[in-house]
Amino acid sequence: MNRSDSSSEKSDDEPPNPLNLEGLVSLNEIVEISGLSKKKVKEICNKYPIRIPRYYFSLIKERGDGIYKQCMPSPEELLDYLGEEDPLNEESKIEGSVPKTIIHRYPDRLVLQVSNQCAMYCRFCTRKRKVGDLRKQISWDEIKEGIDYIKEHEEIRDVLLSGGDPLMLPNGDLEKILKSTREIPHVEIIRIGTRVPCALPQKINSELCNMLKKYHPIWINTHFNHPNEITEESKKACTMLADAGIPLGCQTVLLKGVNDSVGIMKELMQKLVKMRVRPYYIYQADTIKGTKHFRTRVEKGLEIIEGLRGHTSGLCVPHFVIDAPGGGGKIPLLPQYVLKIDDEKIALRNYENKNYEYPQPD
Ligand SMILES: *Cc1c(COP(=O)(O)O)cnc(C)c1O
Repeated sequence: MNRSDSSSEKSDDEPPNPLNLEGLVSLNEIVEISGLSKKKVKEICNKYPIRIPRYYFSLIKERGDGIYKQCMPSPEELLDYLGEEDPLNEESKIEGSVPKTIIHRYPDRLVLQVSNQCAMYCRFCTRKRKVGDLRKQISWDEIKEGIDYIKEHEEIRDVLLSGGDPLMLPNGDLEKILKSTREIPHVEIIRIGTRVPCALPQKINSELCNMLKKYHPIWINTHFNHPNEITEESKKACTMLADAGIPLGCQTVLLKGVNDSVGIMKELMQKLVKMRVRPYYIYQADTIKGTKHFRTRVEKGLEIIEGLRGHTSGLCVPHFVIDAPGGGGKIPLLPQYVLKIDDEKIALRNYENKNYEYPQPD
């Protein structure tokens, strides 16, 4: 359901299906389950596209649960007058200097946006301003300009393919991008950011894995936010990717009413590690327009890290970060473990709040 489809001849209860996704939830079902009027759902959808794979929808246990909130539209999306469309300044570029598809913020790595389509449009999306909008689709020429930019910048050793979702591209298109990126001598690693293993795990098949593994070293950061997203299907998808030799990480977003508790996060992190996915980041929710109702206080994230570190395997403890408004990049936050530090010693506390001292060298 995209704005540009609103004038098409499709019937109301048939969302547009440009990628031949099978099994999308229909507008009528969204209306029925949400209890919102059809008019309201359309109003939301005209501003922020809705797409829910039937598989993901089936994980909802009750209205308003952590799965429901991530995929189902809420009238609150239209009531956010304070948020900004692009608080991370991803779009602000000196005219002509950096291609539209590139976000170059760090010295040795950058983001190449290869699609604006996703398997599902998460209601809290950081790129809510443009995902799923058929008028903002990314062309081949724009991707090529991005790849040329990488070629010209020899300091770039790490390329993050993002979007939208790179794994929503036809395999052949993704392969062309991987191949031309891999041919650049200074590019050491290629990363793919994707929510497909979570939102549409059936899309991960041996054909895709066999293609990906030709372009190693490839790393994948996936995106799970709730333990109920970890199912036989998502486990199978992650296992296939891991068996293709791809190290898997997870970027989780801290979301009010979804995962803002130590108990839920601990269960999620443990389940991720069990399927060979290493938790990488927990993000403080960005100040994106239309997502205000998902934001927690920053203390909540610190409380979660405090509740993980020491209490469970270090493998289950990601970094908690704020992506700085204004485009300052990701800044890590830690609970205060350092009590005092001077020339002689450092005073520390551990996860049980017991105090320790470590002597400095002479
Ligand atoms: C997150 C991000 C990266 C990668 O950061 P890491 O901390 O290396 O994972 C690179 N570029 C941009 C613009 C990013 O937002």
